[in-house]
Amino acid sequence: MTIHDVIGIGFGPANLALAIALEEQEAGLSARFLEARTEPAWQPGMLLDGSDIQNHPSRDLVSLRNPRSRYSFLNYLHENGRLLEHLNLPIEFPLRKEYARYITWVARQFDHVVDYGRRAGEVRVVERDGEQLYEVTADTGETYLGRTLVVGPGRTPYVPEPFASAGSRRVFHLTDYLFRLAEFTADRAPESVAVIGGSQSAAELTLDLAHRFPGARVRNLVRSFSLRLKDTSPFSEEGYFPAFTDYYHQVSPEARRRLDAYMHATNYSSVDGDVLKELYLLIYEQRLDGDQKVSVDGNLQAVTAAEQDGKVVLELRELNTGAVETDSFDLVVVATGFRDLGPGPHQELFPQVIKDVAGRFRTEESGALQVSADYALEALDEAAGTPPLFLNGLCESSHGIGDAGSFSLLSLRAQTLLDGIRKRAGAASSTASATASA
Ligand SMILES: Cc1cc2nc3c(=O)[nH]c(=O)nc-3n(C[C@H](O)[C@H](O)[C@H](O)COP(=O)(O)OP(=O)(O)OC[C@H]3O[C@@H](n4cnc5c(N)ncnc54)[C@H](O)[C@@H]3O)c2cc1C
Repeated sequence: MTIHDVIGIGFGPANLALAIALEEQEAGLSARFLEARTEPAWQPGMLLDGSDIQNHPSRDLVSLRNPRSRYSFLNYLHENGRLLEHLNLPIEFPLRKEYARYITWVARQFDHVVDYGRRAGEVRVVERDGEQLYEVTADTGETYLGRTLVVGPGRTPYVPEPFASAGSRRVFHLTDYLFRLAEFTADRAPESVAVIGGSQSAAELTLDLAHRFPGARVRNLVRSFSLRLKDTSPFSEEGYFPAFTDYYHQVSPEARRRLDAYMHATNYSSVDGDVLKELYLLIYEQRLDGDQKVSVDGNLQAVTAAEQDGKVVLELRELNTGAVETDSFDLVVVATGFRDLGPGPHQELFPQVIKDVAGRFRTEESGALQVSADYALEALDEAAGTPPLFLNGLCESSHGIGDAGSFSLLSLRAQTLLDGIRKRAGAASSTASATASA
């Protein structure tokens, strides 16, 4: 069986950026990526009409690392004959659906290193001819052997209670939005939909539902007072600079928590000004017309959720007065974000796909995995010869807001990973040959 120098789990933007770096730097490392989807796609459940991206378009898969690369967003526009037209658009950020096409366009040029339709299930460490390797088994039954593993499956959707145990397909995370809509609304428009959460996605979904189903009642249910404006201060945006990542990585857990609190509104529980204004105006106009269908209702927490006769019934508690109301919806979209790595109730200790090898690595006092500056996990027992394992796109709790699954630092992170792979793979092979000759 072929032994690859690098095996990557997932082929989203994070591992795609690494594949580009491996090719452009002629790293001389063989790589194979397993991707669960049957073809390349970026956030396909959320390609809403009119929605735009949240990053500067040149903070793409490659430009910060190699501005001369042919895999840039600008070159994608050029090669697809849309550069001049695109630059003439009256918008600040590209449409999400166009950025998704850019990612697919790049990914298609790396088909030779990816196996699509393979969900990595089990990961083990095995020994072949005195060498410790990762053995990754896909859900199709195939196995892959690699000297280094790069885990880039994206963050796990966070679905809080009571929605997690509602056991209804009518209750779903935003990542399934367009698919579930197609399933439940093909024959008949919904009468009522609830959107849970105060995130950018929640506001976008509320608007999308309002435009798609003008006759439907759409309630955006928010636990805090209401929807908050995103912090887009250029000073705060420096949290998405590599210098911040280095700084964050070296400070204490308490200091990280302080920095997290500051950075929170740059990415979480907050909404871009243009989306907020559009939503507020829509609600105002509906009230003016005496036909209010859309609302943003704050201070509300769902305490129960259950499907009854094709409707999802929510019991809602007003958090400040304690008043309880019941409302029912055809669909409930949960826009409450993603899990980060860590011991907290909204977190997970490790990505599930590495559950069988996670015990080989050092953890912080809190139980969270200890992630090195180059995104490698540190083996508990160095003598055990555990091969290098890197996390890609999952490390906000160790590397700060720039690693919150965003594009901002993808291309530079690919360089850090590549340097780490070269360094650690070299160290592992000299340890293996020393052990063999001893
Ligand atoms: C609606 C939405 C909009 C966003 N918009 C922006 C934006 O505008 N700008 C920005 O910077 N960030 C945005 N983000 C953040 C987003 O997470 C990143 O843009 C980017 O998708 C992260 O890339 P990734 O490769 O880490 O994860 P993902 O894009 O999630 O890719 C991970 C891939 O791994 C695959 N996979 C998972 N598990 C396995 C397995 N076991 N085996 C094999 N394959 C597996 C998945 O199928 C997926 O293709 C957005 C997120 C969402 C949800």
